[in-house]
Amino acid sequence: MSGAESGASGARFDLPEVDAFTRPYWDAAAEGRLLLRHCAACDRAHHYPREFCPHCWSEDVAWRPASGRATLYTWSVVHRNDLPPFGGRVPYTAAVVDLAEGPRMMTEVVQCLPAALRVGMELEVTFRDAGAVRVPVFRPPV
Ligand SMILES: [Zn+2]
Repeated sequence: MSGAESGASGARFDLPEVDAFTRPYWDAAAEGRLLLRHCAACDRAHHYPREFCPHCWSEDVAWRPASGRATLYTWSVVHRNDLPPFGGRVPYTAAVVDLAEGPRMMTEVVQCLPAALRVGMELEVTFRDAGAVRVPVFRPPV
């Protein structure tokens, strides 16, 4: 797949749905800040964002800034993905990270050679432009 075919006019599969509920999350991401939903009832964070706590079902949940620190749980280096715009981006490192606040997050590791990836390695959040939004990805601390 060429870069032209994965341009802005075509269908894309990497852009999130932004609605009124998740708007604060994406607004913060645009400013380089990661937000998590935090439950006041059980003092736990969760991700992806929900309107109730998945741990105790309380609705006493609010946005809270995350530290942006995480450790690598698992990953897969993707060499082929036909869904635009991923085809022009391979190889990339799809990953699951454990955020310092507890939640596990599906993301991508950037600025790190695959051979250097280690389970438990320290990572920090950074943001990549993706159309109208910026999405959180993770890299080794710089
Ligand atoms: Zn809770």
